[in-house]
Amino acid sequence: MVEFRGIEVVEGWPERIQEAQLLLTCHPNGKEMGRVRYGAEEDDWGANDRACHDCGVIKGELHVPGCDVERCPSCGGQIFGCDCDWSTDGVEPPAAKPSKPFTDKQLKIVAARKKFVWRHTGFASNGDAIFEVHNGSDMRLPYLSVGVQGRGGTKLIGAVWLNVAGIEPGSSGRVQHDCYSDQLRQDEVECFSTADPTPETRDRFWEFNRLPKKRAPDV
Ligand SMILES: [Zn+2]
Ligand SMILES: [Zn+2]
Repeated sequence: MVEFRGIEVVEGWPERIQEAQLLLTCHPNGKEMGRVRYGAEEDDWGANDRACHDCGVIKGELHVPGCDVERCPSCGGQIFGCDCDWSTDGVEPPAAKPSKPFTDKQLKIVAARKKFVWRHTGFASNGDAIFEVHNGSDMRLPYLSVGVQGRGGTKLIGAVWLNVAGIEPGSSGRVQHDCYSDQLRQDEVECFSTADPTPETRDRFWEFNRLPKKRAPDV
């Protein structure tokens, strides 16, 4: 126990009081109402003279939830024992709609991108990074995302999308792409495999873009 404002409280209680000040409303009978601050109760609990005997808040503060002095804003009784319906209090509102799960086609893309093997082999004369890419999957992908960072992520963390549409299943190819040449020196560039896409992050992956139409073979 520690002493706080003249009453004995358990350790960590001052933090609980701070948190309680952020909880401005409660939900008697399913209706959101402002909580009753210490000193605003109909009967006098001595707020002018001392901290709340139960939870230690001072006049004008909000009680720590569960305090037996806290009044119900709906009926004026003690929350701890009033007849109002508190069953929905503290129940979080339903979270934002979860992202749609991957479709079968998207799942195939997620699996296929794992079978692409790439290697950063150097830089072209125009400063683009050069990558050797092997498509070990059984489908073509329009793009392959590769993470790019500077010096262990201390300078920049980004990603580039390699155009791998021309690399057929089972074959390899060479692609090049600018890797933040305006921000990173060549000896600072580090490339890494990005984490698998999830339904939440899928918008950031160009792997799900539409494949370009195959060019007719040159005759
Ligand atoms: Zn209190
Ligand atoms: Zn009530």
